[in-house]
Amino acid sequence: MTPFDPQLFRQQFPLLNNYENIDTESKGDKNPLVYFDNAATTQKPQQVIDIANHYYQVFNANVHRASHQLSSQATIAFENARNLTQKFINAKSVKEVIWTKGSTESINVITQSLARNILKQGDEIAICASEHHANIVPWQIVAKQTGAIIKVLPLSSSGHIDLKVIDKLINNKTKFVACAQISNVLGKINPIQTVINKAKSVGAISIIDGAQTVAHVAVDVQALDCDFYVFSAHKMYGPTGVGVLYGKQALLESMQPYQGGGEMIKNVSFEQGTSYNELPFKLEAGTPNIAGVVAFAETLEFIWPLLSDIDQGYSRYEKKLTQYCYQALVTIEQVEFIVDGVPDIPVIAFTINGHHNHDIAIALDSYGIAIRSGHHCAMPLMSYLHIDGCLRVSLAAYNTFTEVDIFITHLKSIVSEFEPEENHLENSHDETIAVNTSPEVKVTSEPKAAMDRIIELFVNTKSWDSRHREIMLLSRELLRLDKTLRSDVTLISGCESKAWLYATRSNDGTYSFTADSDAKIIRGLLVIVLAAFNHKSSQQIQSVNINQYFSTLGLMQHLSPSRGNGLIAIVDKIKTLSA
Ligand code: PLP
Repeated sequence: MTPFDPQLFRQQFPLLNNYENIDTESKGDKNPLVYFDNAATTQKPQQVIDIANHYYQVFNANVHRASHQLSSQATIAFENARNLTQKFINAKSVKEVIWTKGSTESINVITQSLARNILKQGDEIAICASEHHANIVPWQIVAKQTGAIIKVLPLSSSGHIDLKVIDKLINNKTKFVACAQISNVLGKINPIQTVINKAKSVGAISIIDGAQTVAHVAVDVQALDCDFYVFSAHKMYGPTGVGVLYGKQALLESMQPYQGGGEMIKNVSFEQGTSYNELPFKLEAGTPNIAGVVAFAETLEFIWPLLSDIDQGYSRYEKKLTQYCYQALVTIEQVEFIVDGVPDIPVIAFTINGHHNHDIAIALDSYGIAIRSGHHCAMPLMSYLHIDGCLRVSLAAYNTFTEVDIFITHLKSIVSEFEPEENHLENSHDETIAVNTSPEVKVTSEPKAAMDRIIELFVNTKSWDSRHREIMLLSRELLRLDKTLRSDVTLISGCESKAWLYATRSNDGTYSFTADSDAKIIRGLLVIVLAAFNHKSSQQIQSVNINQYFSTLGLMQHLSPSRGNGLIAIVDKIKTLSA
């Protein structure tokens, strides 16, 4: 095999080479895309894209059911993907490979088709504190259905499952043990072999979530001897909407399908009821994602040689890149890693002292750098670590050292350019920080003038970069809410970052709103929103054409739907309070 060449590897991903970040254009320079959100989903190589197109253009037909040639061709390609997957994870039989739409669905199949029938009141399910919601919520649902109890395996300071307490937490009451091999936030390889062995020793069924493993480490389910292993194609350069549920055949045989229809039946009768098909079809209801599965076969052809290369060029490159990025982050004084030590895969999570993680991520986005901020679908982990959220940089082997340098340079300049957040709540006695404690807010400005001023500020901004700057400057104008006014009553639900809104009605029937958020970007957006609604009557508030206002400012097209929805949530709350 030819040695791994990162440049050649990168060239295979058309999006990375074609993406024009026009909207981040700043002073005439185009910022190239720096895509560091690979733990969410990876980009796709040309050969995978081509195969999906080829299926639609050349042999699109439904699988299994028809007796015509086109369907046979589609079925052969579809089942070939299953054979390859069996070999890729070293499953004993092709019957042990079930197609789902992703890791999430795979876990839901286990909880609803198996756990629901096994669990009794007081039985225990062990999961880890760092699980993705996909490996928490399905267990919570089945625990509620059956009366079972969830036990949480704690973490060590390095972010690995803490084995010191597993003898206590995995015991003869435990019926299921479900753990991620690698957390999508911490990037550490968990000691899952010990966990699997422990589960086996008490007769519990083990489920390993390999969603973050498969792009980085070769998997051998027979060597692991786990009962189930789940993963998603889209995190390993494959298509979205395709997942794998590996299960030991005897367990899969014992499962009762929780979804019916399509190829999962043997016989359906009104009189005798329904008998189910053989494995693997029994657990695959409805028309599957045929194009996706066919493209997944090509994905395996693409990634397999990289993972099994004895020279380990691909893995070594990923490790070097991780180390490089980690060490560069270490040089930024304000960076605080959320657990100790360099991660095992290129997933690095941290916070920046004095700065809200959303502010940093949005500022980086204005330079074309895509990283993640927030809870990363691991809210219990955030509470466990006593943080609201964090930043996550997740790299792939197509990323480069130069991209890391670009990221670090911008991060450093953002951190030094933005004023660090004062903890205004702690310092509310400090005269330099204006804090709103009074429910009586004086009417000080004409509503129309306030909106016009905002429009004027934005009218000449050509790029998201400059709009972002304006929003951040506006954030300074928001009078901070006192701690006592930040409550469940004033909390705006639907906002990605926490935000609070407080309303008062004057004698003349007009409303005054004050609001707050920990993220500067949200505070800037709040200034914009409040300019449209403050000091107006209920009737005037209801008739504000907010969409037109946002689009005049060029906002909606730049904010992610969730942050965009947050804006809508703020508007909804204002309208409800004043209705
Ligand atoms: N488990 C882990 C560790 C993940 O990182 C993810 C996705 O980020 C999932 C499960 C869910 O994967 P999917 O959304 O593809 O079902």
